[in-house]
Amino acid sequence: AGAVSADSVDSLGANFPLCMQHLHAQLLKDHHLRHGGRMQLGLFLKGIGLSLQEALVYWRRAFNSMTDDQFQKGYAYNIRHNYGMEGRRADYAPYSCHRIIMTNPPGPGDHHGCPFRHFAPERLRAALHQDSLADPDVREIADLAAAGHYQVACTRHLEAKLRRRPSIQGQEAPSAPVTSPNQFFDLCTGSVV
Ligand code: SF4
Repeated sequence: AGAVSADSVDSLGANFPLCMQHLHAQLLKDHHLRHGGRMQLGLFLKGIGLSLQEALVYWRRAFNSMTDDQFQKGYAYNIRHNYGMEGRRADYAPYSCHRIIMTNPPGPGDHHGCPFRHFAPERLRAALHQDSLADPDVREIADLAAAGHYQVACTRHLEAKLRRRPSIQGQEAPSAPVTSPNQFFDLCTGSVV
């Protein structure tokens, strides 16, 4: 992962898988995310190369409806914790698709989870249209998700995005379903072939 800064995160959103697009959009809209969403998006951003210092700047800016004191007390610890600077000082890894799909399903008001698994069919189709996918792609992907093939559906989403990009056309499509949001991002930005 290259140098990702607090200033550049938002411009990279088009390369995010649907789960992270959704969390990112909600963060920008609500200036807040609940714990499950902060963990899922925060560790993903760490995985794409956002340093601890830059993460603290990014999240402080995004949570712009609270005071500095509230941010420091309620959220900064958690961010440092994700980077292994608090508590057990473990260096936490970004979540895999398996973990996101199989554990901690989102409740009302939560935005974490996997849209292919956790969105209702209508909402999933709307999210795919929002990402500029053509109708046949949306249909195929929604059908795969409805049949329980969540990661295959996500991989079709990635392939549809790559087909639209002249700069990395000819890049090999992933040979197996994506296994993590970070792998999706790497394939989408061309840093893994
Ligand atoms: Fe995210 Fe994985 Fe679901 Fe794709 S399959 S949306 S990368 S959790």
